[in-house]
Amino acid sequence: MSTSSPIEHRIAILGATGSIGTATIDVIEHLGRTDTVDSWGLYGISGHQNAARLAEISTRHHPERVVISSQGPEEGTVAFPSGVRVGRGAEMLVDLAEDPQVDILVAAIVGRAGLESTIAAVRAGKRVAIANKETLVVAGGLVREAAAISGAELLPVDSEHSAIFQCLAGGGTPRRLILTASGGPFRSWSTERMRGATIEQALAHPTWRMGRKITIDSATMMNKALEIVEARWLFDCPAERIEVMIHPQSIIHSMVEMIDGSTIAQLSPPDMRLPIQHALTYPRCLPGDTPTLDLTRISQWTLEPVDTERFPAIPLGFEVARVGGTAGAVVNAANEEAVGLFLDGQIRFTDIVTACRIALEHHTHEYNPSPDRLLELDGWARAEVKRWSDRSNNS
Ligand code: NAD
Ligand code: MG
Repeated sequence: MSTSSPIEHRIAILGATGSIGTATIDVIEHLGRTDTVDSWGLYGISGHQNAARLAEISTRHHPERVVISSQGPEEGTVAFPSGVRVGRGAEMLVDLAEDPQVDILVAAIVGRAGLESTIAAVRAGKRVAIANKETLVVAGGLVREAAAISGAELLPVDSEHSAIFQCLAGGGTPRRLILTASGGPFRSWSTERMRGATIEQALAHPTWRMGRKITIDSATMMNKALEIVEARWLFDCPAERIEVMIHPQSIIHSMVEMIDGSTIAQLSPPDMRLPIQHALTYPRCLPGDTPTLDLTRISQWTLEPVDTERFPAIPLGFEVARVGGTAGAVVNAANEEAVGLFLDGQIRFTDIVTACRIALEHHTHEYNPSPDRLLELDGWARAEVKRWSDRSNNS
């Protein structure tokens, strides 16, 4: 039973039109129907395009601010409710992220595009519910330092990291973090077969419905590679103490092995609303709106090691987590570019991880890069992958 006084939590969702954004709005609506002294309201939303969807959310939730981050032409037919302030352009994302009215920033933009706004919210000392793992891959060290200075709270939204966060909540000293991975649609495919994988096959994830970029990342297992780096920074855990296991059922979201030999796991059906609610309401545990496990029906849960020959993204992720510095910015940018080229039909599926490996090996590693250097290398790695793909297509 809670005895504390009511608190109003004002939320801004950057990337409100996406998969995580939509799930976050579902959670806010559910919390609004929940009998609790606290309240969670939508103060601001952003989307890159899709003004119609932003207007729809605004009509339902009356946020004070809306940001349309692309500089595309005005969509004249879209009307926002009166009183809603609508801003345009990428720089408005930072403005919303550091708005003093915002208590919780949900960082749900996909890719490096979320970097500046996520860091701005961390610097402003907000609670940051972080789905945008790419920011941690590119600049995890800077994010940690900024959070230590500002007192920002970093709450993981990624299901594996939320699971680890929950496993650690009981105290104890962890020895190993064990990230689970579904293995994606090509878990049992040979490399040869993956070479010919179509866009449609790569987008058909067996257990999760997500945005296109992360769905391709799951198929290559670059998603798990990015998550190894994410875990390294979120939990300040050296790469040597992180492991990955294939668990196709996506029920065990991750585990922590403690030094006393006990292993703690977090389990639930795969549904992002659970980790999102956890990040918004922590340390409260409120009734959820997601299905629970029917333990009488699940017949088999399996755990197996990753085949790193078929999924070279995994050793790449460990390497990035181990060396830090500029490696994350380079591999993340190469991956974003390569995923875009694959979705445009320009490169083969297996070229994605090859491109990331080549970019990593062609760059001169630095251990303590400045933020500007990271952005410079982001641009360099994208150009490098584009050049490599143009050369391969012309030869
Ligand atoms: P999505 O593609 O469904 O949505 C992306 C959002 O970002 C949209 O609102 C889009 O308008 C916005 N956006 C796209 N490009 C932008 C740009 N250049 N500038 C500003 N905004 C831009 O993606 P998603 O699946 O919701 O994933 C969002 C983030 O959450 C990713 O970092 C992903 O890795 C992470 N994540 C997603 C899931 C999931 O279940 N979808 C799970 C774990 C982590
Ligand atoms: Mg995940």
